[in-house]
Amino acid sequence: MSNQSGRFGIHGGQYIPETLMNAVIELEQAYNFYKNDKAFNHELEQLFNEYAGRPSRLYYASRMTEDLHGAKIYLKREDLNHTGAHKINNVLGQALLAKKMGKTRLIAETGAGQHGVATATAAALMGLSCVVFMGEEDTRRQALNVYKMRLLGAEVISVKTGTGTLKDAVSEAFREWTSRIADTHYCLGSVMGPHPFPTIVRDFQSVISREIKAQILQRENKLPDYVIACVGGGSNAMGSFWHFINDKSVKLIGCEAAGRGINTPETAATIATGRLGIFHGMKSYFCQDNYGQIAPVYSISAGLDYPGIGPEHAYLHDIKRASYVPVTDEEAVNAFEYLSRTEGIIPAIESAHAVSHAIKLAKTLSRENIIVITISGRGDKDCAAIARYRGENINE
Ligand SMILES: *Cc1c(COP(=O)(O)O)cnc(C)c1O
Repeated sequence: MSNQSGRFGIHGGQYIPETLMNAVIELEQAYNFYKNDKAFNHELEQLFNEYAGRPSRLYYASRMTEDLHGAKIYLKREDLNHTGAHKINNVLGQALLAKKMGKTRLIAETGAGQHGVATATAAALMGLSCVVFMGEEDTRRQALNVYKMRLLGAEVISVKTGTGTLKDAVSEAFREWTSRIADTHYCLGSVMGPHPFPTIVRDFQSVISREIKAQILQRENKLPDYVIACVGGGSNAMGSFWHFINDKSVKLIGCEAAGRGINTPETAATIATGRLGIFHGMKSYFCQDNYGQIAPVYSISAGLDYPGIGPEHAYLHDIKRASYVPVTDEEAVNAFEYLSRTEGIIPAIESAHAVSHAIKLAKTLSRENIIVITISGRGDKDCAAIARYRGENINE
């Protein structure tokens, strides 16, 4: 869908300092070669299957379906992957690519620590050294993931600039990459940043929709009516949408974090509240203040707490191929509890945003309709925070 320079309509591109151009050109050339290389794809498939535990299940949520008296609901269980989320798909792909390129060191940004842990995991598996940039505020909030990354052999660098959160960690990782291109690959965690990252990450995550399509055709002998996924930068959603984009009967819905509501400053809903801008090397929609500065964003879900959206999503929104809906903290927490009680599956609070919208939608449909919800990750990491949200205090 992207052209040579990585444009998605008016979005995307490469808005980066000249010093980084060589790095992204080298990466693009390597990727263009390896994406069609039989041995590379075979090796990646082995890693997906033997290490990450793919294919992930497409589970028929019968109790939820009965309870809602509407559409048939299936869950794509990315929460069952090794390390507990979809992030491992992208990270295994990029780590393998880095290795083929002769790089010996991975760097990554992380917010809640999920992408950092996945990158540290792949680095350990492939014998690469690993440095993860994480906002100082986030290292405090996610101490367990900092421990895990160090346990896996990674160095965690606490970023003190700006608000000490995810966007600052991304900026710092780009800065580091600029100064050390020869031996280092920047393993970016979502479908964002300058070309070719949005395309590379989407391709590695597209295994999700490739599997959904084969699995649903086998079970139902037809395509789903809806595919619903949560959107931070947008990688699990792009991966879930990709193989359905040309199937016009399949409606694609991305669920953004509305936080305390899209009419409050405490939100991370980029499509609902953002404007066109340029940040982190790409043109897309971003939450901004009146001066065009990136606004501080908020969500109960650290994985959706990013002030922008990947450029391909911005394009799918522009051409109305996908729609994007805001879901509040309160709605997501309700869905987190609902799925736990109804199906015995504790979803990541990020994924609960998609579950929440699916619950609303399913009630308006009939048993003829099929909804697939991507459960991007598991919810163990969120239990303490949700308990706190409900006024309970548990020891982590
Ligand atoms: C990181 C993360 C997300 C958000 O990232 P996307 O790139 O939008 O997919 C969603 N769910 C989980 C479980 C995550 O770890």
